[in-house]
Amino acid sequence: MVIMTCYDLHTHSTASDGSLTPEALVARAIEQGVDVLALTDHDGTEGIVAAQQAAKQTDLTLIAGVEISVTWGANTIHIVGLNVDVTNAELQQGLTQMRDYRVGRAELIAQRLEKAGISGALEGARKYASDVMLGRVHFARFLVEHGYASDSSDVFKRFLVRNKPGYVPGQWAKLDDAVSWITAAGGQAVIAHPARYKITATKLRRLITEFKQAGGVGFEVVSGRQHPEEVKNLVKLANQFDLLASCGSDFHTPDNTWVELGKLTTLPESVRPIWSDWH
Ligand code: AMP
Ligand code: MN
Ligand code: MN
Ligand code: MN
Repeated sequence: MVIMTCYDLHTHSTASDGSLTPEALVARAIEQGVDVLALTDHDGTEGIVAAQQAAKQTDLTLIAGVEISVTWGANTIHIVGLNVDVTNAELQQGLTQMRDYRVGRAELIAQRLEKAGISGALEGARKYASDVMLGRVHFARFLVEHGYASDSSDVFKRFLVRNKPGYVPGQWAKLDDAVSWITAAGGQAVIAHPARYKITATKLRRLITEFKQAGGVGFEVVSGRQHPEEVKNLVKLANQFDLLASCGSDFHTPDNTWVELGKLTTLPESVRPIWSDWH
């Protein structure tokens, strides 16, 4: 009998907008049968050391990762970095800029909500955030807690997206910069959840071309919240553009029963997994 190694290479903790601490995330991953777990918090690596510590006495392999927000034309794209050296100065300088930007953006979000009659949002959101990363999910928790919306997805629909009162267009890293920070830190850059962007097929191809030119190597062929039908198309793209295939749940919280750690369809045999040259 062949025992398959279970890889989950895209997850979040309280070091960004996940609801489990890095330690609790590692414990849950083990419970769910994950063998290789990447912690990929948004725009920061503060959870990595704690996750590595928690994984130390176990059979779980912890991969140091990050998920960097990128502004590409009018779109926000996410680039995951895997196996990054978190002590790399170039990477950390880039991530520090992003954290600073997040603070200013949070102030703008709060000001806009204030104009819509919702006060105290900045302090409210901060209560849910670690001191390193402030994101829209933290505003969402505040808005749900105060009865402005029924759940997180309701908040996003009504407040935090384009044409809604708390929307602030993101000004994130440049694609080239995000990829080069990851590469400088010895990591592999991967386009996260490619099926989730609202862009045409032509634009997605252009994104992949520019990503490869910048030094990107990977493509998430399997992702937690995507329709099973998408995989076929993503496999085709990965092979056409000679990209290594990755898979990750994008787990944020146990409250979301749709997405669980390690519960992913296996990568089709026709692609080359990103871990094929890991040792
Ligand atoms: P930010 O990087 O602060 O702009 O927040 C982006 C994060 O918000 C994503 O990583 C998700 O965790 C969350 N998010 C985005 N859209 C939605 C949505 N429609 N419903 C729930 N969460 C969302
Ligand atoms: Mn998130
Ligand atoms: Mn993402
Ligand atoms: Mn993610």
